[in-house]
Formats: sequence, structure tokens, C-alpha cells
Amino acid sequence: MTTIIAFANQKGGVGKTTTAINIGASLAAIKRRVLLVDLDPQGNAGTGLGFIRAAHKQSVYPVIMGLGDAADNILSTAIQGMHIMPSSPQLSGAEVELLDMENREYRLRDALAPVLDHYDYILLDCPPALGFLTLNALTTANKLVVPLQCEFFALEGVQHLMSNVAEVQKKYNPGLEMMGVLLTMYDRRNKLSKAVEDDVRTTFGDKVFKTVVPRNVRISEAPSHGQPALFYDMTSPGAQAYLRLATEIVDAAGDNQKEEK
Ligand code: ADP
Ligand code: MG
Repeated sequence: MTTIIAFANQKGGVGKTTTAINIGASLAAIKRRVLLVDLDPQGNAGTGLGFIRAAHKQSVYPVIMGLGDAADNILSTAIQGMHIMPSSPQLSGAEVELLDMENREYRLRDALAPVLDHYDYILLDCPPALGFLTLNALTTANKLVVPLQCEFFALEGVQHLMSNVAEVQKKYNPGLEMMGVLLTMYDRRNKLSKAVEDDVRTTFGDKVFKTVVPRNVRISEAPSHGQPALFYDMTSPGAQAYLRLATEIVDAAGDNQKEEK
């Protein structure tokens, strides 16, 4: 079965896109077939992988609107085994356009059904809002990862997110499971990071990934080179953290293929 992971948090700047890109690259590096779907009209997942926005017509927009097939809107990336369905500026209109469309909660799920078998992992990079695009991600996914930035207001809004998720599980997608909360941009020199970590681990218990992603300049530089951190600087603490996280994700997904297929 394809593991479909939504990276969601209605806060912006918490590390959703960075995590989706770097987990995608790490899973591809251990020979998993990966599709990254960019559901954010900002399109950072595509630019972070070296795509120039206006240069391709492929987008998740026609797929969600029923104007095109998923297979026709997927591009290969420079990373072997990793594909992307990029975003486009039109996608910002989708929130409103979806409102009076039929089957509005399940359009992404239904559109991706024909390509599921081509991938071991489908990663859904959500926009920073709890609108219809995120709802479509949550009805499509079977796992949820919630990135939290290690800062003072980290847990603010998470309660709201979790009650939305509970509602989605009840009404639309009983198969959606919390995979884990991920602490990002952790700064060891800052006492606050440790305090946030303790707080989050108390709140979410074993639903917090053991791996914590450090604040690391290599991670923030990599997108401007159109590369995941793993390819930009494999030895950097950030790239290494995402490799460890990928093994936790593989375990949590019950994916017991040998590391190298
Ligand atoms: P989101 O998708 O949740 O809005 P992003 O993944 O785009 O968040 O991250 C927000 C910003 O923080 C980006 O500029 C990104 O490069 C930077 N960033 C993310 N994770 C790290 C990290 N571990 N260390 C340093 N910078 C990071
Ligand atoms: Mg993003």
C-alpha cells in the first residue's frame, strides 16, 4: 500500500515544505519511489527542487479541478526516484472554486487513485491554512505529520489543527492516522528550544518523532540552489537529521522492505 503523508500546520514558516522536500529526497535515496504534491499556491516545493514556476504547465490545479489527469501533471526531478506534481499561482483560486464543486472534499484523492501504484510514498505539502486544499490533503492521506517550529508559540493553533483532524477522521477519512509531530529549527544553544521540546513531548507522548531537526544554515541555503539539503551538503547536521527521520518514517509506515531495495 502506498503511504500517503500530509505535512500540515496552518501556521506558515514551520518547516512543512522543507520537511516534504528533504524527506522525499531521503526516501528516494533509500530507493523508495516518491511523489511530492505541492498544494501550496506559493509553490515553494517546486522552486526548492530547482523548477522555475512559469516554465512548466504541469500543476496540481487542473488535477484537482478535473481538467487534467494526474499522470500528465507529474514531472521528474533531478533526484532519481522522486517526482513532483508542482503548484501554480492559479491554485490560489482553487479554495474558492472548490466551494461549489461536487465531491469537493475528495477531488485530490480520486484524481491520484490511478497513479498510486507507481509510488511507495506520496508526500502532500499543504498550504498554511485549513481550507479546502488542506482538507483534500487530509482526505487523501493515510498519515499525518505536523511540523512544529521550536519557538515560543509553537503549540499555539495546534489544538485547533488537532480538532480539525479529529473531525476529518470522523466525517471523511477514518483511515487517517497521526504519524507524528516533528520538532524543527531546534537550537541547542537556546533554552527555549528545550522547553518547547519538553512541552510538546508531554502533550503528544510517543507521537513525537525522536529525531529533532536542528536549525541549520545548510537547510535554508539549499532551496536557493534548487536542491534538497541531502544533495547540497550531505554531511550537514540538517541533511543527517532528515535521513534519520526518514528511517523513523519508514518504520512508522510499517515499510519493511530492506533499506536498499
Ligand atoms: P512552511 O512550508 O511551513 O511555510 P518552510 O519549510 O518553507 O515552512 O520553512 C520556512 C523557512 O525556514 C524557509 O526559509 C526555510 O528555508 C527555513 N527553514 C526550515 N527549516 C529549517 C532548519 N531546520 N534550519 C534553518 N532554516 C530552516
Ligand atoms: Mg510551505
